[in-house]
Amino acid sequence: MSEKTIEQIRPDLFRVEIPLPRNPLKATNSYIIKSAQRNLIIDTGMNREECSSVMQKALAELSIDLKKTDIFVTHLHADHVGLVEELSTRDTLVYFNQPDADILNQKGLWEFVNLVASKHGFPAGQVEKAIDSHPGQRYSPVNPVDFKMVSDGDEIEYGDYKLQCIATPGHTGGHTCLYEPNLKYFFSGDHILNDITPNISTWQDDCNPLGDYFKSLDRVSTMSVDLVLPGHRRLINDCRIRIDQLKEHHAQRLEEVLDILKRKSPRSAFEVASLMTWDLTADSWDDFPLMQKWFATGEALAHICFLEAEGKVKRGMSGQTIVFYRKMIDKSSKK
Ligand SMILES: [Zn+2]
Repeated sequence: MSEKTIEQIRPDLFRVEIPLPRNPLKATNSYIIKSAQRNLIIDTGMNREECSSVMQKALAELSIDLKKTDIFVTHLHADHVGLVEELSTRDTLVYFNQPDADILNQKGLWEFVNLVASKHGFPAGQVEKAIDSHPGQRYSPVNPVDFKMVSDGDEIEYGDYKLQCIATPGHTGGHTCLYEPNLKYFFSGDHILNDITPNISTWQDDCNPLGDYFKSLDRVSTMSVDLVLPGHRRLINDCRIRIDQLKEHHAQRLEEVLDILKRKSPRSAFEVASLMTWDLTADSWDDFPLMQKWFATGEALAHICFLEAEGKVKRGMSGQTIVFYRKMIDKSSKK
């Protein structure tokens, strides 16, 4: 197996690069802590052959006995939780958080998502196609998993690693990182990434995930971290600088959304997404792959909901579609 697939970070800590074919994320980082008693896998890759075969080879190469191995999942997305069913034995503890488990196990989830996406202007006929090709639909565990729930402040211990659970809602409602205070290592899942920015999006329009995300970033920036071990791409040495960059990125996005609504209102979340700048190689919005339009619209909606919570945007209806206006400051009320 190539050096690129398994990277040794410490004598007992490895990063395994699980490929994500035809996905802009390219790969998921799965971390493996080896110990004389039980081992721990942090995040797994998707429930698909291309991920499974690389994971199984890496486990064999590292002589990991799955009967002596537990799994920690940072959040509900298929590229993190996908393989838990395959990797679990009768004795495996699969650590997870309640808010994400509730969504993963929610009956009628995709019908609900379909309804919300349609209300926000996603074109009829494309919603079903997007849901059909959504990784959450295709590559999640097939059967319900018996999770061991953890919450903020809980501690789990593997070998020399005393890992504290740090709730970091934003990327998902229950997203949970692991912090090792002696090494000052922070397993960040998709909360903090290098090279790319975590997707902050929503299909529930009565919440404010971007507001949650900012709070979670602020919380982590007060912690003493020497190395961030993210769910995708490269490790991060300067956690605070990266946090500042992520906050700046979203501040610019918020300005962009306000500007789009200033030029012409009202617009649906789908229309706002089509006018935002995206770091993709397609020539125009029409040429975007459907799945990228989907994530872009969810991201636009998260930014709109943040502005709405700040009182800068208000919503209305245009036929069956929810539309947004830039809220003008009422100068006449100022004496
Ligand atoms: Zn994710």
